[in-house]
Amino acid sequence: MKEYSIETKCLQSGFKPENGNPRILPIYQSTTFKFDSSDHVAALFDLKESGHMYTRISNPGLEAFESKINDLEGGVGALATSSGQSATLVAILTICNSGDHLIATNNIYGGTFTLLSATLAKMGISVSFFAKDATDEEIESLIKENTKLIFTESISNPGVDVLDFERFANLAHKNNIPLFVDNTLATPYLVNPIKYGADIVIHSATKYIDGHATSVGGVVVDSGKFNWNTGKFPHLTDKDPNYHGLSYTEDFGELAFIVKARVVFMRDLGVCLSPFNAFLMNLGVETLHLRMERHSENALAVAEFLENHPKIEWVKYPFLKSSNSYELAKKYLKAGSGVVTFGIKGGSDEGKSFIDNLRLAALVVHVGDIRTSALHPASMTHRQLSEEDQIAAGISSNLIRLSVGIENIDDIIKDLEQALEAI
Ligand SMILES: *Cc1c(COP(=O)(O)O)cnc(C)c1O
Repeated sequence: MKEYSIETKCLQSGFKPENGNPRILPIYQSTTFKFDSSDHVAALFDLKESGHMYTRISNPGLEAFESKINDLEGGVGALATSSGQSATLVAILTICNSGDHLIATNNIYGGTFTLLSATLAKMGISVSFFAKDATDEEIESLIKENTKLIFTESISNPGVDVLDFERFANLAHKNNIPLFVDNTLATPYLVNPIKYGADIVIHSATKYIDGHATSVGGVVVDSGKFNWNTGKFPHLTDKDPNYHGLSYTEDFGELAFIVKARVVFMRDLGVCLSPFNAFLMNLGVETLHLRMERHSENALAVAEFLENHPKIEWVKYPFLKSSNSYELAKKYLKAGSGVVTFGIKGGSDEGKSFIDNLRLAALVVHVGDIRTSALHPASMTHRQLSEEDQIAAGISSNLIRLSVGIENIDDIIKDLEQALEAI
């Protein structure tokens, strides 16, 4: 589908019905698949043939959804997972063993922060965090012999800082390590990280990809471009005794990473997406382009309204001229996405009072829904971070994260106006 533009791909990539097939991607609600010969099944187990065997590893509905996201991101292969968290976990485990190390920006999503700093640490994989504005020298000083990757977000959640993709890709590649980018808030409609040098792209598909707040899911996309054959990634180059000594790079070439992610970590951890959720997410993506345009248009209007409101201390949105990400946003993003963060004058009490007074916008722990929602990260999503880590991540006590929906913009602004009035 390389010849089509992204709007068309949102609708037409993935499922390709043949003569007499259902027009719409079916729900393949089946754990397993039937075969005529044991030799065929043995060949599937040995990865000598491709095909669906068991839904933990692959399923035709999931494959269609994966293929659509892969097409939208411009990768060589994708793996759907049960959540954004499991997408990050599987992607990292594919090239990190106990004793390995990675580096990550400190402004990433709270759940990813604790996954890296607490859970992976328990598995012997260590992480060093750095500020997105750190100099190249400061970042490179953290890269050691056992450092396997750089992890970051295209638009950080909730700080809405835009990534300088090319600077980070150059830094990673100069040190022979891949750049992993969580593209959840931007979505493939606003930016394709692979185009600017990212090697692995991760999504919490729970957010804009699903878009309607129906399903939790994730995706890992492989650019197929990273050179694993430098001696630094025995995970992919050495022979795997569990598959009769095959080597992922030798046997699967540019698909080495995404094949191993599936046939080792999806197989062993079982963090698969359900066929029904793949169906809903596929349906969601069909309108991704329209939704992202409207989310972005509404969010910019909200950001401009807040910037001029006397009860607001500060506002962050990539396409506000006052934003420190404005130049990067113009360079890399088609539009600014739906998330606006701001600080209400006062502190935590004023922030909570504002949220409690909202009528249209709902208090939900979510972003990327078509309906407007609000959250106070310091007391909610990021409460497990120490105050020091919260400040380092840019989460001040008065920060509100607004996920601007696609309702009528006048209704959204009226609601914010009355809630600010009521503080
Ligand atoms: C929500 C989110 C995640 C985690 O995804 P889940 O689907 O909730 O597991 C990861 N990264 C970002 C940027 C997110 O917003």
